[in-house]
Amino acid sequence: MTPVDILALAAHRDDVEQTCGGTLLKMAQLGYRTGILDLTQGEMGTRGTAESRASEAAEAARILRVSWRQALDIPDGRVENTWENRLKVARVIRETRPRVLILPYWKGRHPDHYTASVLGYEASFLAGLKKIDLTPNNEPHRPFKIIYATLYYDIRPTFVVDITDQFEDRFRSLMAYKSQFMDQEAGSGIFPAEKEILSRIDAMARFYGMLGGVTYAEPFLQKEVGLVDDLTVIPVKSI
Ligand SMILES: [Zn+2]
Repeated sequence: MTPVDILALAAHRDDVEQTCGGTLLKMAQLGYRTGILDLTQGEMGTRGTAESRASEAAEAARILRVSWRQALDIPDGRVENTWENRLKVARVIRETRPRVLILPYWKGRHPDHYTASVLGYEASFLAGLKKIDLTPNNEPHRPFKIIYATLYYDIRPTFVVDITDQFEDRFRSLMAYKSQFMDQEAGSGIFPAEKEILSRIDAMARFYGMLGGVTYAEPFLQKEVGLVDDLTVIPVKSI
């Protein structure tokens, strides 16, 4: 058993680094155990191989102080919400037993991204069913909280996490994917140079930071309403 407090699930290696890496690092710095589940291994990428991406993913996890990281063998570019794939993810949820699960937002440009969202949700439901046999992980478990990382989609988040102190390391974790992001010839029409990437990432994080009244932030959505005990400590200034 390798329990974590917070598990982030995404379709591709480097998705988590882009959408919620700062938040994962912040949680690790607060003393929580964090984990990343990548559904695919990146064999369809224009640049690099599944092997080079595996070592880059391990380096990124080290920078983000992630305790547990694994990639499933779902084909890259063909993430499908099948029974078989739901069982694979449910097995991981029972093994890692997260209190909080971070999923991608359920709409987006890339089919792997929005399919991963529904797949993660339905696998969480399955993982809690006593009678589903997921040997060797037969203790049912469901995350208490499921939140959605919305950075890839233009939608107003329900909350943001202040990552001002984590911004630099978050960027370093993304640059660990040298085969994808470093300035190079192969695929330079699709992949912007490192300086351009930094300025885009900076602009996005500043935008969400501004919504929360801080310098840099990452956006999330929760389906549930917020619950408040004390009106005087609700954060984010109104006027
Ligand atoms: Zn992706």
